[in-house]
Amino acid sequence: MKTIGLLGGMSWESTATYYRYINEAVRTQLGGLASAKILLNSLDFSQIVGFQQRGQWPQAGALLADAAKGLQQAGADCILICTNTMHLVADQVATGARQIPLIDIITETAARLSADGHKNVLLLATKYTMEHGFYHQRMAGLGIDIKVPAVADRQALQRIIFDELCCGQICPDSRKEIIRMVQDAQQAGADAVILGCTEIQLLVSTDELPLPGYDSTQIHADAAVSFALPHITSKLPSLPEAKHPI
Ligand code: GLU
Repeated sequence: MKTIGLLGGMSWESTATYYRYINEAVRTQLGGLASAKILLNSLDFSQIVGFQQRGQWPQAGALLADAAKGLQQAGADCILICTNTMHLVADQVATGARQIPLIDIITETAARLSADGHKNVLLLATKYTMEHGFYHQRMAGLGIDIKVPAVADRQALQRIIFDELCCGQICPDSRKEIIRMVQDAQQAGADAVILGCTEIQLLVSTDELPLPGYDSTQIHADAAVSFALPHITSKLPSLPEAKHPI
């Protein structure tokens, strides 16, 4: 089994999900007491958020590249940036650990959408991911047209992600708001939705959505396990749905 390197803490609420998903999948695949070989470099999220708010993306990228280098030196066989937003600087991060692959959350999510034939897809994410264009460009390369909610809903998502989910708060009203955003997109012609922020799965499960949902956290974790256990080719089963308080 290969060792998975996680750049986490962005936020730690979702990194905890990665840890659980990856270990659950390895246990499902190998059975018994098997568990994943993981190296975690967990960053101080307040520092990352400061860079984001000031638009200091190269500085954030340098910090993450250094953290990736640390994982490589510690023996990781691959790197995962456990946040969609920070894939804005994925190329810079990859330069920190040139000897090992970076498993990219956008590439993996796009592959699933393409395999299922989706072309007109709603993206729910941070304002950085929804507005900076990097997600759209990468998806467009695979023939997937990305739509984002209107500005008021983008602001609501930013608040839900940073003021609630990254702080460990699960609010039923926010879940309803997200489901309503998906309904609106469905009426406007969207055929699928990406939970394109690694914390959104803490609030809403794909089963609750009126469109086929693609949970970027689950997809990214699955890709890490496929890399770590390359001799096991079967598709990973879905994990039991998390229980949400209503
Ligand atoms: N984890 C979130 C994401 O997937 C947001 C936190 C961040 O800004 O990195 O984008």
